[in-house]
Amino acid sequence: MTFTESLGSEKGRMSSVKRVSKQKSGQMVVPGDKLGVIEEYEPGPGTYVEESTGAIYSLTTGRALMDLLNKRVSVFPGVKTLGVPKVGSIVEGLVMEVQNKQANIRIFQVNDRVLNGFFSGLLHISDVSQRYVESMYDVCKPGDIIRAKVISDKNRVFHLSTNERDLGVLQAYCSRCGHVLSLRKFRLNCEQCDNTERRKTAQDYGKEEA
Ligand SMILES: [Zn+2]
Repeated sequence: MTFTESLGSEKGRMSSVKRVSKQKSGQMVVPGDKLGVIEEYEPGPGTYVEESTGAIYSLTTGRALMDLLNKRVSVFPGVKTLGVPKVGSIVEGLVMEVQNKQANIRIFQVNDRVLNGFFSGLLHISDVSQRYVESMYDVCKPGDIIRAKVISDKNRVFHLSTNERDLGVLQAYCSRCGHVLSLRKFRLNCEQCDNTERRKTAQDYGKEEA
């Protein structure tokens, strides 16, 4: 087993990050989670390679980022914590399921701390924006990374709001081809296939530092 460098700065590269599968890039991983194989990726910071198989694993607890452009996989370490979201917490999560009036969010980060596990959050359409929103499909889509505020934790369900400028989708992917979407004049555009999509974006969309 060979350990590669475990620390490094990859800031400013989020815009070139594409996902391999909906479940992986941006998601929290724990030490030993398999990230891929050396035939498809160069092992980046926070990973190690098992030489007998060529499999790449996570060295740390953190967020996995698959950079298809540079064929590289990295894990950005997060502080190990058993943090629980509270009312007023700012959380980040992966959009799991979207229905017309609500979305289910898998919360993996609370107030800048990456969690060891997940909490389920619920974003209802009435808490998305001050403006009237017709459909949740115009707000977020499965696979998006979203930042939200916890407004209620009644019955252990974390109800979320994106009703502030710095809240909303942080990273979204083209539902046609999977390429990361770029923000252009209030709309999200796919540079790969020229598809245009809608989201409720955070004001720092696409600029998040991992
Ligand atoms: Zn596309």
